[in-house]
Amino acid sequence: MKKRMVLALGGNALGGSLAEQQAAVEGTVKAIAGLIAEGSDLVIVHGNGPQVGNISLAFEAASKAEPSVEPMPLDVSVAMSQGWIGFDIQRCLCGELRRRGINKSVATVITQVVVDGNDTSFKEPTKPIGPSYTESEAAAIARRRPGVIMREDSGRGFRQVVASPKPVDVVEKDVIASLMAGGHVVIACGGGGIPVVRKNGGLEAAPAVIDKDFAGGKLAEIIDADLLVILTAVEKVAINFGKPDQRWISEMTAGEADGYIAQGHFAKGSMLPKVQAAAQFVRSKQGRSVLITSLERALDGLAGKTGTKIIDG
Ligand code: ADP
Ligand code: MG
Repeated sequence: MKKRMVLALGGNALGGSLAEQQAAVEGTVKAIAGLIAEGSDLVIVHGNGPQVGNISLAFEAASKAEPSVEPMPLDVSVAMSQGWIGFDIQRCLCGELRRRGINKSVATVITQVVVDGNDTSFKEPTKPIGPSYTESEAAAIARRRPGVIMREDSGRGFRQVVASPKPVDVVEKDVIASLMAGGHVVIACGGGGIPVVRKNGGLEAAPAVIDKDFAGGKLAEIIDADLLVILTAVEKVAINFGKPDQRWISEMTAGEADGYIAQGHFAKGSMLPKVQAAAQFVRSKQGRSVLITSLERALDGLAGKTGTKIIDG
């Protein structure tokens, strides 16, 4: 049966440096093309941690050397990272599809994701982004850039912290749906999307980072996907992860997932948002399911041979 799916790609699918990204994306598109060859309609969502960090850092450094260059605000940096990563995936995926004789186009949609201006995370920003600084460097940055909050990051020096609000809506959802309906492969919500709040009938950029797994889940709900596939560095989700009694999970219900979350089995900022996004998506409508597995095992996972499947219940 033809499936409509959202594919959320983690950091390992993209690499860190330019050369790494090149090599990683070459491998990533092979897995994606395999899914497309099986007849799935898909939207690709990706992370952007290292890339958005490098963009911010580059402008920050340039602004010190040349006063006419301004530091880039976070929203613009995210937009740049969407263009950059989208371009890399587009270029490689187009080539891979041609080689397989699949006649489909690939397009990146610069995506704004609406968040609630009253989201509690705005009151207490905790998500560290970018490089570490000494206390005095951090103080200088905070003085130079109004609105930038610097905090000590568990012994790793001082870093900028931003809010990580939950996604509420996707501004470009109709464009994404039209492209899908036209049979095109879409890359959207890169880096979780550019966070915006609705204000006075318009949109205003928010100093925040949206988790890409939550953004992928929200987009999957909105475009009425059957399946959310989260491709990360592990083949399955585990309980007692990294401990002697570690156990890999092949299938769990949203209710079981809640129980494991309450018992603290999933690390904050890595596996926890994936399992939370999964539970939310499968509960949003009957018949929706989630697969969490590695990029390498994506096809086997979809065939039910590996990965962790999350279902309603
Ligand atoms: P991504 O870039 O794909 O979002 P993350 O590093 O954020 O990847 O999250 C995936 C990582 O979560 C895995 O590589 C693993 O080290 C870690 N992890 C934490 N808790 C668990 C768990 N319970 N089961 C499996 N992996 C876990
Ligand atoms: Mg992650």
